[in-house]
Amino acid sequence: MAKHQYQTEIGQLLHLMTHSLYSNREIFLRELISNANDALDKFNYLRLTDEKFKEENWEPKINIKIDKEDGSLAVTDNGIGMNEEDLIENLGTIAKSGTKAFIEQLTGDAKKDSNLIGQFGVGFYSVFMVAEKVDVITKKAGEDTAWKFSSDGTGEFEINPVIKDEHGTVVYIKLKEDAKEFLDHWRVREIVKKYSDHIPYPIFMHYETEEIEGEGDEAKTVKVKKSEQVNEAKALWTLPKSELKEEDYIEFYSTLWHDSEEPLTWIHNKAEGTLEYTTLFYIPRTAPADIFRADFQPGIKLYVKRVFITDQEKELLPLYLRFVRGIIDSEDLPLNVSREMLQENRILANIKQASVKKILAAIKKLDEKKFDRFIDQYNKLIKEGIYTDHLNKETLLEIVRYKSSKVEGLTSLDDYILRANEYEGERKKEIYYLIGDDEKILRNSPLLEAYKKADLEVLIMDDKEIDEIVTPSIGEYKEWKLVDISTVEAPAVENKEDLEKLAQEWKDLTEKIKKILGDAVKEVKVTTRLTESPSCVVPDSSDPMASMRHIFRQMGQEEPELPLILEINPEHSLIRKLAETEDEKLLEESAWVLLDSAKLAEGLEPSDKAAFAKRVADLLQKAL
Ligand code: ADP
Ligand code: MG
Repeated sequence: MAKHQYQTEIGQLLHLMTHSLYSNREIFLRELISNANDALDKFNYLRLTDEKFKEENWEPKINIKIDKEDGSLAVTDNGIGMNEEDLIENLGTIAKSGTKAFIEQLTGDAKKDSNLIGQFGVGFYSVFMVAEKVDVITKKAGEDTAWKFSSDGTGEFEINPVIKDEHGTVVYIKLKEDAKEFLDHWRVREIVKKYSDHIPYPIFMHYETEEIEGEGDEAKTVKVKKSEQVNEAKALWTLPKSELKEEDYIEFYSTLWHDSEEPLTWIHNKAEGTLEYTTLFYIPRTAPADIFRADFQPGIKLYVKRVFITDQEKELLPLYLRFVRGIIDSEDLPLNVSREMLQENRILANIKQASVKKILAAIKKLDEKKFDRFIDQYNKLIKEGIYTDHLNKETLLEIVRYKSSKVEGLTSLDDYILRANEYEGERKKEIYYLIGDDEKILRNSPLLEAYKKADLEVLIMDDKEIDEIVTPSIGEYKEWKLVDISTVEAPAVENKEDLEKLAQEWKDLTEKIKKILGDAVKEVKVTTRLTESPSCVVPDSSDPMASMRHIFRQMGQEEPELPLILEINPEHSLIRKLAETEDEKLLEESAWVLLDSAKLAEGLEPSDKAAFAKRVADLLQKAL
């Protein structure tokens, strides 16, 4: 008999495991199956590379044997196995950085520490959450002696030679009194399906049930031994693309994400190099219902070496891609990677970056019909990306679509530039846009008149909440400056001098109107931006609050109203007549109507609706 002392850190860990009231104890099975999977992988590799094992007739498999009478579970594999040294090294000491990090985070506070177990899962040792005693009977491939490692989860373990025919490992678990739920074959099946369905080796479950034999008086219950395969044993994403048909991808998608519609597209990629990982992403045809809720369900499942880790991590992809469904399977991450580690993990950060590029490239390659569908469902999120993903801003700006004063449907910025390049005459490298929340009002806005007259295209952005934050952040696209037409002079105004001269000429009238309207407007001035309308209002973009507005909106607060500037059109006959009139009363009524109707045209409300209606009626009467 050979007794050994556990490394001191393990003592601490084991103590926690054995005394933990942790509710997610089922993960011990995930860990044992994962180890069996690794052992099978290792022997598989040996067989491929070492002459000695080539001839062996080998059927890799994992067996789970439930023994109700004995109150035990045994997890068996015919993988690489361990010798005495391996046992001491692997099960008696902690070398794994993940486990070390776990121990470093232990606080001694049982409740907090139990939570940590769930996040880390600590490999083999998690078995002590359910085990009274554990025997690991194992024989290393190519060696003669087999060994038994025994531990009850206290400070010591024993290693003794035993007899075993086949190479591989049996982990025999004598269950604790309060862990008998794991003797239920339904429960075991559920756990295997949940965590290990895509382990590429078959997992068999062996158990005994009672069945009724015979009929009537003859009937009696008999015990029946059952054996069945529990897992799919197929990690679809690990298969080469050439072996996969469209139906395979679609079926896999619908079973994992419960979507009856076919996805718009999928992106399957295997990376080999400094980092090894496989990704398979899908873009749903219809946007998941919860993507605009704060508590949305993430769509990405993280696997490490085909073992399921989590589907609760929201930032495996950037947030704006939260509609993407898929799998990330890394060969380099430790199985016991924690939530905290996920968030700042460099491997994952690399995978994330490469994945975004792949996904965006696939979106750009969608055929016209699918692309239109994509925009219909996800344009808003692409805008979110423009604001948040500086690395991919350019690509996102190629994807995003806007309404336009010139074309039906939607346009890309690239097409806008193409059309602008065909403009006859001098064309500044500027992309014009106008933001509001009602498309119709925007299209009829007096602010557009001068641009129409000059044959300049203006993008109509009616997604006000998002556009008002995102569009100003774009700045430039391919050297073209984005310009909000409500903040600049109309294009017809070639030089400032002309405008100043005009202002001087009309000073009399503008001053009178300002006096009448008082604080209702900040300023009254003449403009050249209008052709058909007598007046328009623009928010005062020089107001210090102007640049603050999006901050208010982001904080979910009512944005401050900006002071308005009333602009009048000196070309309009109504304005010319007003300049000449002696009738003070008529001027006063008209001034208010000019302001209120201009406000209406921009989707704003007159400050006094009843008074507005009355004034219009009075003026009409006079005109008749
Ligand atoms: P990890 O799997 O992350 O390495 P574990 O605590 O799960 O950490 O396992 C520790 C080590 O014990 C493994 O790396 C492996 O070398 C060895 N081991 C555990 N289970 C088996 C098994 N069934 N067959 C062979 N080796 C095993
Ligand atoms: Mg393990």
